[in-house]
Amino acid sequence: MEKLIVASKNKGKIAEVRQILQGLYEIVPMEEIGITADVEETGTTFEENARIKARYVYEQTGLAALSDDSGLCVDALGGAPGVYSARYAGEHGREGENNALLLKNLAGVENRTARFVSAVALVSAKGEWVATGKVEGKILYAPEGNNGFGYDPLFYCTEIGKPFGIATAEEKNAVSHRARALLALEALLKNQTL
Ligand code: IMP
Repeated sequence: MEKLIVASKNKGKIAEVRQILQGLYEIVPMEEIGITADVEETGTTFEENARIKARYVYEQTGLAALSDDSGLCVDALGGAPGVYSARYAGEHGREGENNALLLKNLAGVENRTARFVSAVALVSAKGEWVATGKVEGKILYAPEGNNGFGYDPLFYCTEIGKPFGIATAEEKNAVSHRARALLALEALLKNQTL
């Protein structure tokens, strides 16, 4: 099976990519091959940031690299936190603080429609591909369940009728933004070797 280096340190994200692509690629987290840098996400779109991260890892290693840049877009907040989802409350990766800030900013707000968006980029010696996916839902008034990662306990997925915090990995991966983006990427690659 071909190896794909995943340009991420997010364990929840890496686990999902591995589950979704099982049987297609051997997923190797970048830290396993010694890449520990925090790649600066200087883009203003998910697609740009996904390209930046995958290019960085490809340039460092010469190996086919896959990245996902994703986030939560809330209609009542004008699409925020969007590309800033991981650093909504400041420092990168503080999930509890991000979730608390989201609830605070939505206090008293009735329109709670939102979507998760993912852009995935694959960069190899053969070229560069980008695809996107999204999944619709609503922001809950309090967290429900502990499954998944990040904003999952606050996201009621209207497409499956349950919070991602309660959904099993299989239920989430059947509809998730990340699974849809990776499926679209597979279609672009059309069985091409990397
Ligand atoms: P990235 O690593 O810069 O792409 O950050 C993505 C951030 O968006 C994560 O840290 C989470 O806060 C959020 N996010 C993206 N996808 C998901 C998901 O599937 N569930 C919950 N939160 C997500």
